[in-house]
Amino acid sequence: MERLLRQGLGALGLSDACVPALVRYAELLTERNRVMNLTAITAPEDIAALHFLDSAALLREVPLGGASVIDVGTGAGFPGLVLRIAEPSLRLTLLDALGKRVDFLRDVCADLGLTDVACVHGRAEEFAADHRETFDCAVSRAVAPLPVLAELCLPLVRVGGQFLAMKSVSSDEELSSARRAIGLLGGELVRTADYAIPGTEVRHRLIIIRKCRETPKKYPRIFAKIKKNPL
Ligand code: SAH
Repeated sequence: MERLLRQGLGALGLSDACVPALVRYAELLTERNRVMNLTAITAPEDIAALHFLDSAALLREVPLGGASVIDVGTGAGFPGLVLRIAEPSLRLTLLDALGKRVDFLRDVCADLGLTDVACVHGRAEEFAADHRETFDCAVSRAVAPLPVLAELCLPLVRVGGQFLAMKSVSSDEELSSARRAIGLLGGELVRTADYAIPGTEVRHRLIIIRKCRETPKKYPRIFAKIKKNPL
């Protein structure tokens, strides 16, 4: 795992100073995954590539040094916690609706000495009530289709900030179907960036959306409505 991480981070143009922390994170993930459902990916080389390098690849497309970032539906910490480990100046909030996953994230942060990471148990559409338009950037991977995800994420981003959605390379239709939602929520598609996870054949896509206007106060709606009637 160490070698894969060093080579992969190098290929992404990132420092490998974070490798020991990532190795420890993988140990904690593997250990806790035996007693609760955190990830279906369990082989060390797969954790290195499909979780760690996939998450870190985002930093090559969008440098986030110094930015306040929220990871919506972070699960076991992807991509958010990897971004913070690879880019220590990032100010991170990890948000998830499942309390046990958030407990795990708190344990990892304590173990790694990451005292400034906020681990929040909550739903994005409810968290927006008190944290509207406060983040430079919202990131999210594998949480919901883009029209739904945009309503969970864009209200949290300040005007001038960004919403970064990690998707598959076959997300053209999903992106077209989300254009209206993105516009209604005050966003604008900047570009998509397809990238290969170093050391693998796997290609993923980052969808980069800029928040250019305030999100109308009526959004986000309650989750039942978001889901039943995506924008
Ligand atoms: N981002 C992680 C986890 C994906 S699984 C990864 O890529 O590995 C989706 C996660 O989103 C779950 O942990 C689920 O609890 C969380 N989630 C789903 N809807 C949410 C919402 N509305 N607010 C916060 N978390 C949510």
